[in-house]
Amino acid sequence: MQETIKSSEQAIALEDKHGAHNYHPLPVVLARGEGVFMWDVEGKKYYDFLSAYSAVNQGHCHPRILDTLIQQGGTLTLTSRAFYNDQLGPFEKYITEYFGFDKVLPMNTGAEAVETCIKIARKWGYEKKGVAENAAQIIVAKNNFHGRTTTVISFSNDNNARDNFGPYTPGFIPVDYDDPKAVREAFESNPNVVAFLVEPIQGEAGVYRPSNDYIRECKKICEEFDALLIADEIQTGIARTGSLLAVCGDCSCKGHCERQEETYVRPDMVVLGKAISGGFYPVSAVLADDAVMNVIGPGQHGSTFGGNPLGVKVATTALEVVRDEKLAANARKLGHIFRERMQNVVDKYDLVKLVRGKGLLNAIVINDSEDSSTAWDICMKLAENGLLAKPTHGNIIRFAPPLVITEEQIHDCCDIIERTIANFNK
Ligand SMILES: *Cc1c(COP(=O)(O)O)cnc(C)c1O
Repeated sequence: MQETIKSSEQAIALEDKHGAHNYHPLPVVLARGEGVFMWDVEGKKYYDFLSAYSAVNQGHCHPRILDTLIQQGGTLTLTSRAFYNDQLGPFEKYITEYFGFDKVLPMNTGAEAVETCIKIARKWGYEKKGVAENAAQIIVAKNNFHGRTTTVISFSNDNNARDNFGPYTPGFIPVDYDDPKAVREAFESNPNVVAFLVEPIQGEAGVYRPSNDYIRECKKICEEFDALLIADEIQTGIARTGSLLAVCGDCSCKGHCERQEETYVRPDMVVLGKAISGGFYPVSAVLADDAVMNVIGPGQHGSTFGGNPLGVKVATTALEVVRDEKLAANARKLGHIFRERMQNVVDKYDLVKLVRGKGLLNAIVINDSEDSSTAWDICMKLAENGLLAKPTHGNIIRFAPPLVITEEQIHDCCDIIERTIANFNK
């Protein structure tokens, strides 16, 4: 019979003994979630300031999404794509109208969706652009994070993620992030570039927000060289950064509309994952127009679970919640308050060097060396004080609460963070 968990120590010991050690979690064992809160097995309550890497933008166990899960879970869950199902078509219509693209290709995890757009871009390159067989190149940004598959880690420059997993997949050209000139040079020195794959804000790298015109400039360069701009919005998308997509930019609509025409830069492909699940059931998707998506024919790509009725029904409700509860506008408004409060902390305490981010995807940089344990130690103290966050790289702590957080709660959280910083090492 399965063991019942009665303490954190017991749960951690079980994972340590029986699970692969492919993560290094904070020693907190969570047992329940609701909205912005989670509770550990001892019953201690925490604010969630990670949101499962932005997969729970709608808040934990959102009742509307839960209803959908239960309803569809008792009706039809999986058919495979050997047959049609009555949920996929409506979902495809809904999501393509929602984001303004002709077509969608549904998958399950983020990494799979990134793999999907790599395959589409290469095939487009051979069949539409006329690149010679096996010569296609894709430009990527240094310090990217696009997932964990063999091909995706092939163009990572994080040694820990990459070392001893070779041989690596060829066909990728790394350039500096936030440097359109570097993108142009890569195009100029290689006629076989079919696409530029980029995160509109680099999340895992430490919430690096590029200059305002970066994506727009890159789009222009891609057009000039007849190549595709691929935006990986797996972490930044679905209202996280204060608009439906980070490529929507900062227009005056304040996050209310779907496509912010004034500042919107339209990628040729958008990759979605994480929050499209509502935190319930893994769903990912690639959006593109016909001229790109139609290069894929039957048998050339797919997944047993991709487009399954349970997943797409959950994803539809997850997107409805984002729209109906105006989560983009909330993220935008509370993001300003959060950064203002954190700037105050930066000004007051030497321990924190800076705050940066957009919407409710933010990070503080701790004033210590990148290999120090200070950021980790601060996260341990934050947990003690009832707020869960995790260092991204070395001395950077990411703060990304569920987007259903209220103004009062965000102030409460800023108080916790400020108090923790003020008392650290005292
Ligand atoms: C999380 C993430 C991925 C990978 O998604 P998985 O579901 O973990 O495979 C890819 N790109 C970005 C930008 C991400 O944040």
